[in-house]
Amino acid sequence: MEPAEVSSLKSILGIARIVALVFMIIFLLAGLASLGVALAFAAVGFGGLGLVFAILPILFFVINLIIWMQVGEIRRMVDAGRYQEAKSKSLIWMILGFILGGLIIGILLLIAYLKFDPVINWQRQQQAGGQPPAQGGWVAPPPAAPPMAPPMAPVAATAPPAPAAGTCPRCGKPATWVAQYNRWYCYGCQQYV
Ligand SMILES: [Zn+2]
Repeated sequence: MEPAEVSSLKSILGIARIVALVFMIIFLLAGLASLGVALAFAAVGFGGLGLVFAILPILFFVINLIIWMQVGEIRRMVDAGRYQEAKSKSLIWMILGFILGGLIIGILLLIAYLKFDPVINWQRQQQAGGQPPAQGGWVAPPPAAPPMAPPMAPVAATAPPAPAAGTCPRCGKPATWVAQYNRWYCYGCQQYV
């Protein structure tokens, strides 16, 4: 059902999430280790210096936590088919990823960002192609008898009032030729054109 681009987009977002998670764990461990060092420094009277080293990994832990949550949000948007929204969000977090989250997350989100366009095009085609249901499950068939057939008007004389390859002049949708009545019928307007 969904094209390969959508599944590869989801995998890339999944990988970006895992990378952010790995960074989170690394920075958390580094933060805890630095905290230990900070306590050791404090014990010998250099508390302030140790604290500076502890703050940085904890800060990066928080940044990666936020990226991890945001990428999860982008994935939910993709799952819901809100590709345009997900694309804009990816752009923001790609830039922030490059600046704050390290090169890997930035590159992964860049790849994801570039994959949105084919996916969005595919979605547009799906929507455009899905509009006229040719089988006509929801559209009424042409009425058994034409609503009003003026007897004085010979059908052949006025037969093709819409000669533009069977297009409805009211709504512009393609009309259907009903050979039985020798007229064009528009399923959109549900009347003869
Ligand atoms: Zn029409």
